[in-house]
Amino acid sequence: MNFSYWEFDFYLKNIDFAIIGGGIVGMSSAYHLKRKFPNARIVVVERDFFSAGASSRNAGFACFGSPTEILSDAQVNGWESVLKTIQNRYMGLQALQDIIPMSKMDGCQNGGVEIFESHESDKFDSTMDQLPDLNRRVNDVLGFSPYQKKSEPFGLTNIIGAIGIDREGMIHPGKMLAQWQKINRELGIEILYGLNIESVDVASGAFQIRGRWILPSRLVVCTNGLTPGLISGLDVIPARNQVLVTNEILEKPWNQTFHLREGYVYFRNVGRRVLIGGGRDMFREQEATLLLEETENVKHYLHETIQRLLGREVEIEHHWSGIMGMGNSKGPIIQSLSEKTYVAVRMGGMGVAIGTWVGQELARIME
Ligand SMILES: Cc1cc2nc3c(=O)[nH]c(=O)nc-3n(C[C@H](O)[C@H](O)[C@H](O)COP(=O)(O)OP(=O)(O)OC[C@H]3O[C@@H](n4cnc5c(N)ncnc54)[C@H](O)[C@@H]3O)c2cc1C
Repeated sequence: MNFSYWEFDFYLKNIDFAIIGGGIVGMSSAYHLKRKFPNARIVVVERDFFSAGASSRNAGFACFGSPTEILSDAQVNGWESVLKTIQNRYMGLQALQDIIPMSKMDGCQNGGVEIFESHESDKFDSTMDQLPDLNRRVNDVLGFSPYQKKSEPFGLTNIIGAIGIDREGMIHPGKMLAQWQKINRELGIEILYGLNIESVDVASGAFQIRGRWILPSRLVVCTNGLTPGLISGLDVIPARNQVLVTNEILEKPWNQTFHLREGYVYFRNVGRRVLIGGGRDMFREQEATLLLEETENVKHYLHETIQRLLGREVEIEHHWSGIMGMGNSKGPIIQSLSEKTYVAVRMGGMGVAIGTWVGQELARIME
């Protein structure tokens, strides 16, 4: 279908900043660019109705890192990089709440918990041994010591230990994105849904939809894990994550988040339901994909895990997948690729946490 003259003339001409991607990073970039350039015409172009990436498809953990995840990251990437990441996540969560109050995202900040299953007693003991040092290092960047041993069972079975994570929270990602839409539209930012960008010309900053080239003054690409479909040569690797939600089973909802195994598996309650996601480490090759599908093996694995932890059979009423952006290096890519084209991509598994800050940084480096 071609654009009519009217559509093209009204919506797609004379754009100062075009932003590809209507997830949290695209929305935050648009917001912060509008704050910096109040008279600029800013247009966000999104291929789906909500977000066909991760921002309305994630688990809604407002978190900065579980003990085993941080300790394992520190071994691979070193403490300096890990502490910077923790700081960015925490700052990002603060920045998000400064713009969208927790109450508008059905959010709460009751803390999180890392749990260890009965076969992980050695891992629990060694994590506990390292906890004072971990708290000291995190305290240096956040100003508080988040981790402490927990003894309550949380109604879970098969658990030999638990470590609480102070100030961790959870939100409703759909409500978060809806708030971004509302706030940005009120600022005069245009958001065009249902337009798939077919290609990008990095040198000129032009992008193509329905065969037509559109030339904004500046182009910002915020497509995270889906970036390899538009721009090649960046260290961004798509990583699918699958999520299940049970029927209403909890008599007393936790209103807390839970992590297992370096954060590769996570669960929380959604009202009286339980949401569980992850397991990517068990199916790494299969999950390095741009395809938004679910697979029986991951679903089965997550279903078994939650039944084992709850000690009972549960029904799955909702399931979906989303695409994250990982890389061989950690941390987001926020940079110019040419005088006209900028990118803010590779949020890892923590875009809810760092996304707002990334948009702020992107606006800061743009002229
Ligand atoms: C299942 C799952 C659970 C997660 N859980 C958490 C969590 O609990 N806490 C946390 O902090 N993070 C979590 N994450 C990660 C987090 O959701 C992401 O890091 C974050 O949403 C990335 O935001 P973004 O704006 O960079 O990318 P996205 O939200 O992926 O947005 C990119 C947008 O670009 C659009 N797009 C792509 N290509 C095109 C094109 N050609 N034309 C037009 N539009 C295009 C996509 O449709 C998409 O909406 C999870 C991710 C997944 C998948």
